[in-house]
Formats: sequence, structure tokens, C-alpha cells
Amino acid sequence: MPKKSSIRIFGVLGFPVKHSLSPAMHNAAFSHLKIKASYKKFEVRPDDLRIFLKSLSVKKISGLNVTIPHKENILRYLKGYKTSTADAIGAVNTVLVDKEGRLKGYNTDYLGFSRHLVELKLKPKKIAVIGAGGAAKAVCFSLAKKGAREIFIYDIDKYKSISLMQRFQDGFPGCKFIAVDSVGGLLLGGKDLLVNASPVGMKPQDPCLITPAMLPQGIFVYDLIYNPAETKLLQLAKQKGLRYANGLGMLLYQGAESFNLWMKPKKAPLVVMSVALAKALRKEIKG
Ligand code: NAP
Repeated sequence: MPKKSSIRIFGVLGFPVKHSLSPAMHNAAFSHLKIKASYKKFEVRPDDLRIFLKSLSVKKISGLNVTIPHKENILRYLKGYKTSTADAIGAVNTVLVDKEGRLKGYNTDYLGFSRHLVELKLKPKKIAVIGAGGAAKAVCFSLAKKGAREIFIYDIDKYKSISLMQRFQDGFPGCKFIAVDSVGGLLLGGKDLLVNASPVGMKPQDPCLITPAMLPQGIFVYDLIYNPAETKLLQLAKQKGLRYANGLGMLLYQGAESFNLWMKPKKAPLVVMSVALAKALRKEIKG
């Protein structure tokens, strides 16, 4: 058995994180590559974020994934030490603690979403996005970088969709960002991709924000949620014979990109991580 102190510690930081599948994916990768490391769950309330981040070196934590509700708030504690992409997106989902104990913030959500789009052979030009939080920012950045021409954004909080639009508009002059104040305003009739980047659909009692009549033929429906594997939105897409995907592919690829940052020059074992994710999800669904 290796000495406890020689084991590097990683983990997912969020509130809540009980149902995160990231530990299964990363621990399988560590074990497959015989890396002396362990990936844990760190459930930290928003008010305790600053103190938790200050304690990383003492706790011997080498890296983190960051999830709801910390992706945007964490930026203020990283000062100048974050990549320009994370800064441009306005959200961090991966932290690397360097040898001096400094925290460096990255965004691998956008890379994960981009890789999944490639796998799905999607090159959407006209897109509608529900939600304007940390994940939606990464999605919009990825889509605009990949040549989207217009992105309509709806968030329950209009201020957030307007602020997302303002954040990206100047950097992507070839893409028009339009903040709308209702789901109907997304004008799905003319779109080739609908993305749900809101948490609506995670709970069984959640409504489906889209009615059957709103979904045109030919639109691809992507839900960032992967648990449940088929949200009401995806069930609707299926009933209508549309192509659709959940966010499991994005989760896998963002996790692989985080792994590559932490373990450089080692590369994430994608198949091992994918199998571990699928197994953990089946277990989670069974309860
Ligand atoms: P977030 O920062 O809290 O953003 C979610 C946004 O959706 C918030 O602005 C929220 O507004 C808005 N919203 C809530 N209810 C809404 C409604 N009825 N209509 C329109 N907008 C609504 O969360 P996030 O980190 O972006 O995550 C969003 C979802 O993506 C979560 O389900 C998360 O699990 C998933 N996700 C998946 C992956 C993956 O790899 N597959 C990666 C990242 C995130 P309020 O804040 O006002 O409620």
C-alpha cells in the first residue's frame, strides 16, 4: 500500500454533489493507469467557498472540477491566475493547484461540448439555448467558435441572458446573440439545434418547457442533463422522431480534458472512463 501522503487528491466541488458521477469516471482512470490518486466529492456551501479554496494545499488537493453553484463565483478567487478562455467564458469548471500552491482556473466544459458535437457530426448555424448560467456560457462560446450564425438565449432571469449576450457579442462579430424573454421567443421554427442548459428536467416533477408544436422537423435536441438519461424534453424529441442527445458525452469529454490538464503528459483513458460512467449512471438510476 502506498503511504497516505503520496496519494494525490482530486475532487468535484459543488453544492450539492451527492449524485456526481465524476468520482467513478476519474477513479477508474487513475486505477487503470496505476496513478496514485483519489477523486472525492467536496460539498461546499457558497458562503464557505473562499475558506475551502484557501485550504487546498493543507488538504493536499491537487485539482478540482467545479460544478453548480460555484462555476462563476470561483473566478473572483482566482485573481489573475486563470486561462484566457475561462476568463472569456466567465466560468471555471477545472482547477489545477500548482507546485507553489497557486490555483489556476480552466474551462473544459466548452471543450467537452465541442468534442461531443464533433462526435454527433453537428455543425449548427442557428441555435436556441435555454439557460444562461455557467454551462450555457461554455456552450455558447463553443457554438460561436464553431461558426454559429445566430444564438437565441432564454433564461428565467432576463438579466442573465442579456449579460451572456453582451459578454460574447463583441468577440464573435459573425454570430448574432439574441436574448429573448420567453420560450416562444426562441423561434424554434428556424433553428437547427435546441440546447437545454438549464437544470429544468433534473427532477421528476419538473415541467417540459417546450410544447410538441414548438419543435420543427429536422431540429436536433441536446439536453445537458444526463441523469435522468431521457428528460421530458428528450422524450418529446424521441416521440417526434427527432435526433437528440443527453449530456453524458459532454461529461465524459470535459472530464477527459480535466484529466489531461492534471496528469500531463498522460492522456485520459477514454474507453475506461466511458464504461465507468455508464456503470455509475445505471447504478444511480436504479437507486
Ligand atoms: P447554473 O449556473 O445554475 O445555470 C442554470 C441557469 O438556468 C440559471 O441562469 C437559471 O436561472 C436558469 N434557469 C432555471 N430555471 C429556468 C427556467 N425554467 N427557464 C429558463 N432558465 C432557467 O447551472 P449550470 O452549471 O449552468 O448547469 C445547468 C445544467 O447543465 C445543469 O443541469 C447541469 O447539471 C448541466 N451541466 C451538464 C454538464 C455536462 O457535462 N453534461 C456540464 C455542465 C452543466 P436562476 O439562476 O435564476 O435559477
